Amino acid sequence: MLALPQVKAALSKQPGPLTAQPNLVGQKVFAAFAPIQDLGWAVLIERPVSEAYAPLYASTLRTLILLLAGLGMAGWASFLIGRRVVRPIEILRRGAARIGSGDLDHRLEIKTGDELQELADEFNRMTAQLQESYANLEHKVEDRTRELTESLDQQTATSEVLKVISRSAFDLQPVLETLIENATKLSGADKGYIHRLERDVYTIAVSYGATPEFKEFMEQHPIHPSGRENLVGRVVAERRPVHIPDVLADPEYKWSEAQQAGGFRTLLGVPMLREGVPIGVIVIWRERVEPFTEKQIALVTTFADQAVIATENVRLFQEIQEKNALLEAANRHKSQFLANVSHELRTPLNSIIGFTRLVLRRTEGQIPTLQKENLQKVLISSEHLLNLINGLLDLAKIEAGRMDVFAESFKVDDVIHMVTSAVEPMLKDGKVRLVKEIAPDLPPLNTDREKLKQIILNLLSNAAKFTEQGEIRVAAWREDSSMKITVADTGIGMKKEALEFIFDEFRQVDMSTTRKYGGTGLGLAIVKRLANLLGGDIGVESQEGKGSKFTITLPIGVKG
Ligand code: ADP
Repeated sequence: MLALPQVKAALSKQPGPLTAQPNLVGQKVFAAFAPIQDLGWAVLIERPVSEAYAPLYASTLRTLILLLAGLGMAGWASFLIGRRVVRPIEILRRGAARIGSGDLDHRLEIKTGDELQELADEFNRMTAQLQESYANLEHKVEDRTRELTESLDQQTATSEVLKVISRSAFDLQPVLETLIENATKLSGADKGYIHRLERDVYTIAVSYGATPEFKEFMEQHPIHPSGRENLVGRVVAERRPVHIPDVLADPEYKWSEAQQAGGFRTLLGVPMLREGVPIGVIVIWRERVEPFTEKQIALVTTFADQAVIATENVRLFQEIQEKNALLEAANRHKSQFLANVSHELRTPLNSIIGFTRLVLRRTEGQIPTLQKENLQKVLISSEHLLNLINGLLDLAKIEAGRMDVFAESFKVDDVIHMVTSAVEPMLKDGKVRLVKEIAPDLPPLNTDREKLKQIILNLLSNAAKFTEQGEIRVAAWREDSSMKITVADTGIGMKKEALEFIFDEFRQVDMSTTRKYGGTGLGLAIVKRLANLLGGDIGVESQEGKGSKFTITLPIGVKG
């Protein structure tokens, strides 16, 4: 017994072990002791472990049972929640996904009787609204697309008609054919006709879809526009579109013969008005009763306007052509007359000049100075007149096509040398230099030598006339297959506006230069025409107060 740890502890009066220890019979026990001082004893009590832990075990068991019951209830509760909440939410999720992917016919079936059902109902209502507005939108898009297609068709037709109008300036038929085809097709009619007024009756000018029999019928029955018993008559009387939804139900419509020949029921007639006068009528019809819409009537009216424009174009074009022909003839006669008159005037004028010179020479020193001066004035005026007449004769000959070109091969240098020496006496002495700049490799030129001489002489005389100081430069060089010749001066130059008319007949920059320098205003006109006659042209650059530069371009070879 003394070996037991609890006995040892009691004897030594030390606190014993707290853990369960075996007792004398080997049973596990908790032991405790209390010393009795007076007796020197120690009282030891022990309690079996199973007895000490019994309440603990009972309490653990209770807790375990409670835990299991709790777990069971939690499982049951989650099952119930799953039924009432999770499934409807899943239905909502799937439904929303279907609706979201475009299935607007889908509805959510939730019958929980709570907020979830309300949510689903709300969802269903929203989907229905969405479906409705979607359908509306689709209708609107369809309507808009149809309208757009219609107006695109109309625009295409209009531009097609305009193209045909611009292509056939003198032929009305293709324009009217395109018009009636488009008017009939675009307004959904079965047949279409354009009646034109000719010698007080309306006859068919073009038709679309018409049968040969009806055309023949109309040829035999041209329409006299009197009265309201037929469509054309009524349109002409009212001067505005006339729409008859059903001819058979129209009390005023009386031309049953035409109705039977054509088989029409719904009729539309639109006048082609020129300054209020109906020069034609567009008629379209349907063989069933189906009234034309406002839009279709407006469309045919637009075509009628275009028909008038086209008709006017052709009429004006023909008129202009006739007038042009008349003008050309008149111009030819004028040029011929001028050429003849100038020629006739030159002979007496040459003799006036000749005789005046003779008298001046023979009477040298014998007549008073005043008379000599008068004779000199006669000479100057006559020479001026001769210049003018020569110019007129040249112009008239060119315009009348009577100026011939005699081409020959020659060196341009020779012509330039010849002309410059002729002009040299005209230069303001010492103040104006004449410079020649001729490219060394110039090929011979094949053209009318005399006319080229006349051109350069004219330009050089002008340069000499209008240059007080500085230089006059004549240059010639080859550029590709052309010969370029320029006459440039440092003279008075010209205003920018003048450059536009300087090559016209009788035009001078302003009258003050004429008074100061004289001249006829014909020189440059002749130069330009001569250059054109040789297959070339002339251009000018000039700056007022700085000088002018004329450039002639001529083909190296010209056919004579
Ligand atoms: P005109 O007989 O008057 O010289 P032109 O036809 O030769 O007739 O010239 C017409 C006008 O052009 C002249 O009156 C002049 O005003 C202007 N003009 C021509 N050449 C020159 C030039 N080199 N410099 C300045 N003005 C010129």
